[in-house]
Amino acid sequence: MSALYDFVIVGAGLFGAVFAHEATKRGKKCLVLERRPHTGGNIYCESREGISVHKYGAHIFHTSNKRVWDYVTSLVDFN
Ligand SMILES: Cc1cc2nc3c(=O)[nH]c(=O)nc-3n(C[C@H](O)[C@H](O)[C@H](O)COP(=O)(O)OP(=O)(O)OC[C@H]3O[C@@H](n4cnc5c(N)ncnc54)[C@H](O)[C@@H]3O)c2cc1C
Repeated sequence: MSALYDFVIVGAGLFGAVFAHEATKRGKKCLVLERRPHTGGNIYCESREGISVHKYGAHIFHTSNKRVWDYVTSLVDFN
C-alpha cells in the first residue's frame, strides 16, 4: 500500500509553503497543516480599506542575489 502523502508539513509560513511548492513540483504529495486561517505565516498581509497591513509586524525583503530575487518574484508580487 502506498502512503497518502510523501510529506506532512506543519505550518504554511515561508518555509512550509515554499517546501510544499518545491516538493509538489518534483512530484511529491504534500499535506500542509496550518492553524491560522491564512497562509504566509508571519509575513501575511491583509487588506484594510485598500491598505496592505502587515498583521504580525512589518517585513522588508533584502537580497543582492539575482537568482534569489528572480525566484521569489516568480512566486509572488512585491510592493
Ligand atoms: C515582527 C517581525 C518582523 C520581521 N521582519 C523581517 C524582515 O523585515 N525581513 C525578513 O527577512 N524577515 C523578517 N522576519 C522574520 C520572518 O518573518 C521569518 O523568518 C519567516 O516568516 C519565518 O518563516 P517560517 O515559515 O519559518 O515561520 P512562520 O512565518 O512563523 O510560519 C509558521 C507557521 O506555522 C504555523 N504553525 C506553527 N505551529 C503549528 C501547529 N502546531 N499546527 C499548525 N500550524 C502551526 C503558524 O501558525 C505559522 O503560520 C520578521 C519576523 C517578525 C515576527
